[in-house]
Amino acid sequence: MMMEFKKEPVDLKYELGDDIGKGHFATVKRCRERATGAEYAAKFIRKRRGGGRRGAKLEDIEKEIEILGETSHRNIINLYDVYETNREVILILELVDGGELFEYLSAKDKLCEEEASSFIKQILDGLEHLHSRYIAHLDLKPENILLQEKGSTAVKLIDFGLSRKIGPKEEHRALMGTAEFVAPEVVSFEPLSVASDMWSIGETYHNVTAVNYQFDDEYFSSTSELAKDFIRKLLVKDQRKRATICECQNHPWIKPKEKRQKDLRRSSVINTEHLKRFIARQRWKRSMRIVSMCNRLSRSMQLRRIQSSDTLGSCSEESDSDLDKVLQGTNSQSEGNK
Ligand code: ATP
Repeated sequence: MMMEFKKEPVDLKYELGDDIGKGHFATVKRCRERATGAEYAAKFIRKRRGGGRRGAKLEDIEKEIEILGETSHRNIINLYDVYETNREVILILELVDGGELFEYLSAKDKLCEEEASSFIKQILDGLEHLHSRYIAHLDLKPENILLQEKGSTAVKLIDFGLSRKIGPKEEHRALMGTAEFVAPEVVSFEPLSVASDMWSIGETYHNVTAVNYQFDDEYFSSTSELAKDFIRKLLVKDQRKRATICECQNHPWIKPKEKRQKDLRRSSVINTEHLKRFIARQRWKRSMRIVSMCNRLSRSMQLRRIQSSDTLGSCSEESDSDLDKVLQGTNSQSEGNK
């Protein structure tokens, strides 16, 4: 059953704090429940109005809420409350405070495969909960894999904005997700399935280890054959032949069958140089998105100035909020770069 959309102002119950994240159509703020002092994250999703392209479609927001309402798992973000205003839908979510998993991993000089596999296992456990309910996440990328809190190693999957329920006999085609992590069936606009998430896991882990799964190079000679085999089984073009969640959970790299496999995993170390470079590229791409947003904003402001006789001070609400977006994006970017 869909959670009730409360119409009263959200700040009656929750005291709103600083911005902690930004997506295409959402701003996420820290908040505190007034009655209990408990901390949450408030995700403000801008609704699409009229035929415009700004904001998320209400039906997509409803899908995200419906999916979050059906899930309850230690590795999946929890949804507590939903509010609605004319312009936004506000989700009150469990606060996940430990930053991105990849940022944490890349700060290490060396990463033991045993540790890496324990993180992948948590992602697989969260996905199993989804896939057993025919829910495909469809946007598994480093930005959406967070750590519970500083110093914690508990993983949480977030951002169910693109997630879909896809029954075994249903077809869902979409051109979406983040190019680097999406499965070939997304690019070729073929039907998607829960297997599409498995490709993204393969890509994600591939970026952690930089295993070239056909041959070794200078960095990865220490990556174990088990780890390479794990990735090889995920990066399979035909989704029917790709490893399923269950096969992954039972793969010896995740669940060693013999002492030899366990010892191999423990003694194999991933050099994090490649991961550091990958993270730096991701940050650069995010800043390029901000630069392009700035350019679009400045063009639209120029156009408005030309169109309006009442020039200065006539900046519309939309431009103001775009400017906010750019500035906040710049702030969170520079924070991320620290
Ligand atoms: P996208 O544009 O990638 O589809 P979105 O608009 O759906 O994103 P989210 O990815 O859900 O928004 O959130 C944006 C950012 O806010 C995340 O990358 C993350 O840094 C932060 N964030 C989201 N949910 C939480 C949470 N529950 N606790 C802490 N931070 C969060």
